[in-house]
Amino acid sequence: MEQQSLKSQIRDAVDQHREELIELSLRIHSHPELGLHEEQAARWLGEFLERYGFRVDKGIAGLPTAFRAAYGNGAPAIALLAEYDALPGVGHACGHNIIAASAAGAALAARLAVDRCGGSVAVIGTPAEEILGGKTSMVEKGVFQEIDAAMLAHPGTANYASIKSLACISLEVEFSGRAAHASARPAEGINALEAMVQSFNHLNSLRQHLYPKDRVHGIITDGGQAANIIPARSAGSFLVRAETEEYLELLKEKVLRCFAAGAAATGAGLDYRWIEPHYAPMKVNNHLAALFTANLEALGRKVLVFRGEAGLASTDMGNVSQVAPSIHPNIAIASPGVGEHTPEFARAAASEDGHRGLLDASKALAMTVLDMLADREALAPVREEFRGSSE
Ligand SMILES: [Zn+2]
Repeated sequence: MEQQSLKSQIRDAVDQHREELIELSLRIHSHPELGLHEEQAARWLGEFLERYGFRVDKGIAGLPTAFRAAYGNGAPAIALLAEYDALPGVGHACGHNIIAASAAGAALAARLAVDRCGGSVAVIGTPAEEILGGKTSMVEKGVFQEIDAAMLAHPGTANYASIKSLACISLEVEFSGRAAHASARPAEGINALEAMVQSFNHLNSLRQHLYPKDRVHGIITDGGQAANIIPARSAGSFLVRAETEEYLELLKEKVLRCFAAGAAATGAGLDYRWIEPHYAPMKVNNHLAALFTANLEALGRKVLVFRGEAGLASTDMGNVSQVAPSIHPNIAIASPGVGEHTPEFARAAASEDGHRGLLDASKALAMTVLDMLADREALAPVREEFRGSSE
């Protein structure tokens, strides 16, 4: 009973700060900053939380735009993750302004739970989700070691308690050949571009033998200097994704064979580099997802089960989910036809529907924090499921 009245106080607290939260979201939205350059967003979030009694540590894990803002002490320690990086050219077309503002809104309201029940809540500011994956190195540096549960609400086109995501690794490839006049002395050249083109064809042949959720895709970043010179160098960037890390290892070998074949056929030299740390797949904690679902449905939103037919990608939240019980909810702010990373989605992230998503996400996250702090028995199955799946 007391928990229900605390939940209604939490909802009221978010509504009381409605204007401020929307203003924070719009301010980040109208000042898009790329990954690792989110100085303003990190500063505004830190200032906002400091105003409400959070202790803010800036530049944690060696990342100048990462931060931790904590309220309360000790266990259970619940983390609300904020992302705030934008995309080149299209601004906040992934709506990370809503992730950031909803983490702040939820944390603000969750103070009620901490004051009443003990434990702690922290907003962890995690830079560069779109590139590099700030969370991967934050996980390696132990930022999430003492965390009992981690959550982050991403805007989208449907409501899910958690998305799933693919393991993903980047690959940089370079072929080196020999330059020659393309017309006068073609026989003397070794064509590094042809090695790359053949590799793409081999990858396309491999596609028939991939599982439906495997992904291999890339671009050519250097295809030569002039049409009358046999290219002595070619280079490309690729991403390789799979459902599990184990299968990703196998897929990496198959992909490499495609490049080795391009090199063998043309006589070009092959250099490659897998970029670690890679993105781990999202390990969804179903008990935590059930708590969040009940809270979001109490706000009148229908929560669907994520099946991954569409919208399957990768996120560095996957790495967090490997070390702490986690969910990655999705909050609908646009109709299903609107794709992420488009100008339309950027507009949705600053619209009335975007604001509603921000407020509902804040409330549902904060109520889920309360569930775990108020009733330690709610946290036990979350922990057990995590331990069970980690063995
Ligand atoms: Zn995103």
